[in-house]
Amino acid sequence: MTVPLLDLTAQYATIQRDIDDAIARVVASQRFVMGPEVEALERDLAEYLNVPHAVGVASGTDALLLPLMAMEPKPGDEVIIPAFTFFATAGAVWNAGFRPVFCDVDPRTFNVTVETLDAARTERTRAAIPVHLFGQMAPMGDIAAWAERHGIVVLEDAAQAIGARQRGPDGLPVMAGGSAPVAAFSFFPTKNLGAFGDGGMVTGLDGELLERVAKLRVHGGRQMYHHEMVGTNSRLDALQAAVLRVKLPHLDEWTDARRENACHYEAGLADVAEVLVPEVMDGNFHVYNQYTIRVRRRDELRAHLAKLEIGSGIYYPVPLHLQACFAELGYREGQVPVCEHLCSDVLSLPIFPELGTERLDRVVDGIRGYFGA
Ligand SMILES: *Cc1c(COP(=O)(O)O)cnc(C)c1O
Repeated sequence: MTVPLLDLTAQYATIQRDIDDAIARVVASQRFVMGPEVEALERDLAEYLNVPHAVGVASGTDALLLPLMAMEPKPGDEVIIPAFTFFATAGAVWNAGFRPVFCDVDPRTFNVTVETLDAARTERTRAAIPVHLFGQMAPMGDIAAWAERHGIVVLEDAAQAIGARQRGPDGLPVMAGGSAPVAAFSFFPTKNLGAFGDGGMVTGLDGELLERVAKLRVHGGRQMYHHEMVGTNSRLDALQAAVLRVKLPHLDEWTDARRENACHYEAGLADVAEVLVPEVMDGNFHVYNQYTIRVRRRDELRAHLAKLEIGSGIYYPVPLHLQACFAELGYREGQVPVCEHLCSDVLSLPIFPELGTERLDRVVDGIRGYFGA
């Protein structure tokens, strides 16, 4: 029995009729760009997140890029981001015309904190992007208070964290993408709410900023052939919106299955001293887009699992401040030490909802066997 890192066919099989009907509906209408499906998904997602605004865009990358473009950076303006995240976070900052400033993360949660963000703050800091890495939220209450003190805009990168939540400052739950002026979601197929291609959504509380994003996605104007800004073409595909509207009502049950899988791993690996399982901070509801352990001699464990036909992934092998494309920023090894260290010892295990106990046990046994536990 092989265990893939991810198997999307299993999920499709459970909702095939509804998905196929939804696709047929769009094909029959021949309305492929914007239109009722996209508007309906924007409403559905705003309601799910309990936010006033949602704007569908072409990808999660663009969901980061367009709000940053809307902030109209001046040369030298900075945005703080973690060095341990998917490249898109940094690429969007760069392409919008900001200078990325890389901060470190908490080694237990892989997330930024007020302390790590503040260490990277300068007079030129315009915005900060906390990334809710692997599906666990960064401490948003603290970060919002810090940002407000310093006049910094918070853009949440919630690409991996749809449905994640945490206890807010007043004790009530706050959703990922539900408390910041602006947040970015991705519907890339491997995300917890995945489309059949690319897609993304910008959400948030800042209506004025979201209005500018809505213009930027259609070349900078609400009215055809009248352009207030230079935007781009970044619309959410109607076929993708239709697929996502079928999937959204299932998201919470899929999240629960991921969380049960995580419990299974935690129980099965608790006494293996060589393995650090993911830590969930008090008050956090983790949605496990990835289940990422930390181990020494990670590459050897990975090869061992591969021999047993067990898939695993390395997210991420190279910290962003040391990427060749950012050489001109002048970062050196040792400057963002926790992120650098994580890149050499993280390993993500299969966690998709349809995994099942038998395959989970195979992964647990494979790891235990490697360590002779
Ligand atoms: C996936 C992802 C993105 C980008 O999303 P795409 O839809 O692939 O463009 C951005 N940030 C993070 C943290 C991601 O995981």
